[in-house]
This record gives sequence, C-alpha cells and structure tokens, in this order.
Amino acid sequence: MQQYFVKETLALNQVVALDSQQSFHIAKVMRMKEEDTIVVVDGAKIAYEAELRKVGPICTAQMTSSLDRDNEMNAQVTVVMALIKKDKWDFFLMKATELGAARIVPFKAKRSVVKSDDEKLEKKKQRWMRIVEEAAEQSRRQCVPEVSDPMTLKQLKNVMSEVNLIAYEKESGTGKLLRDALKSSQSVTIVIGPEGGFEPSEVDELLDMGFECVSLGKRILRAETAACYALAAIDALVE
Ligand code: SAH
Repeated sequence: MQQYFVKETLALNQVVALDSQQSFHIAKVMRMKEEDTIVVVDGAKIAYEAELRKVGPICTAQMTSSLDRDNEMNAQVTVVMALIKKDKWDFFLMKATELGAARIVPFKAKRSVVKSDDEKLEKKKQRWMRIVEEAAEQSRRQCVPEVSDPMTLKQLKNVMSEVNLIAYEKESGTGKLLRDALKSSQSVTIVIGPEGGFEPSEVDELLDMGFECVSLGKRILRAETAACYALAAIDALVE
C-alpha cells in the first residue's frame, strides 16, 4: 500500500490533506480513486490505514485504523558521507534511506571534489529532503532520516554514537571487521570517504576523536557502494 508522511499528529477518523506533490502522485501517478486505501504516517511516527476522501490537486484521506508496525533498523545508524558528485550523491541518499539510515551527515572531506557552496545549500537541502522523504515512503519506513548541513571533520564530534567507525580503504582485507567492531550497540556512526579516499591526516584526527578503522571486505568499493554495504551489513548484524 502506498505510504505518505504528514507533519501533523493524527487521531483515528481524522481527515488530513496531503501536499501537492503527494496529491499528484496519488491522483496522476497511482491513478487512485476516492475510497482507495493508503497508509499515512504522522508526525509522531504512527502509521494509519486511511481512505481517500477527495482525489484532486489536493487529496484528503481519513484515518480508519492505526497500524502496529516497526520497520526501522534495530540500531540507529548515522552515515557520515564525504560529499561526492551529484548523481552519485542522490543515489546514495535514496539507497541509504531504503537501507534504514537514521541520520545522514554530509562531510567536507579534503579530497571531496564537490565543494559545499553555502549560497546554494538551501536549495540543495530541499532537493535532498525530497529524495529521502520519497525513499522513506517507498520503503515503508516510519522515520525520514535527518540530513544535516555539511560538516567539517572537527564538527563530527557532535554526531558520534556509542560505536564510531571509519570505513578505511587501506584496511580492506586486513582491518577489523564490522562484526567485531559492532558489539551489541544501539547506535553507530560510520564515516565513508570520497572517491579519492581519505587523507591520512583525516584518519589520524578521527582516531584521536575516538573513531576506529574497519574494513568493508577485500575489494575497494566506490563511496556510494561502501555506504550501502555498511548499512546492509550492520542491519544484518543487529537484526
Ligand atoms: N580511491 C581510493 C578508494 C576510495 S573508495 C583507492 O583507490 O584506494 C571511497 C570510500 O569508500 C573510502 O574512503 C572508504 O570510506 C570506503 N571504502 C571502499 N572500499 C572499502 C573497503 N574495502 N574497506 C573499507 N572502506 C572502504
């Protein structure tokens, strides 16, 4: 069943209006009709089954039952992702959301070829939020991952978790494995480097902050693949 997020906290029988993009999706893409059923997840992350009351430029739906559902990952994973080129970045946002990331932190790595340009940031962030929201709806999550403003290495101390990892390409095949680093942790932060990899000084600074290096296996993965691998592996390990 198609799912849509709304900001309000809802109650049973309440009627809510979907926004114009969601309404377009319902009316024109899915070609749904009045009385068809959708799932609405409210601001308190409660999922409701809802019946469409009005279908048009602004659709409305009435909550008919609440759904007992938890599709979130067992661990809260923060992916710190070095800024990479737009198409790869958008792919990463979509897949990381499907795979259950709780928070995404764009990272201004020394070798990031894409520079974060503060002037365009607001527009970029709107696009990013749209991508993660759609991916969260598509994958039937209750939570839309938070996407922070791009951070410098020093700022990463604000997004540390119980377990803090650097996926380091120089550790491929030889380094500590994810499964040995995870323990029974509830929250994990993992840093992924850019296309050109990390500068050794960045790894040293992260180690000083309390991060530890892990290997994501024997092969060198592209940054966006590394992020997907890490999330899928963590999900399987904490399941
Ligand atoms: N250009 C570099 C590779 C960069 S891959 C080189 O040829 O060595 C981009 C990022 O993906 C890396 O910085 C790292 O965070 C992650 N990554 C890719 N493969 C990995 C592996 N096998 N183990 C750990 N991290 C890996």
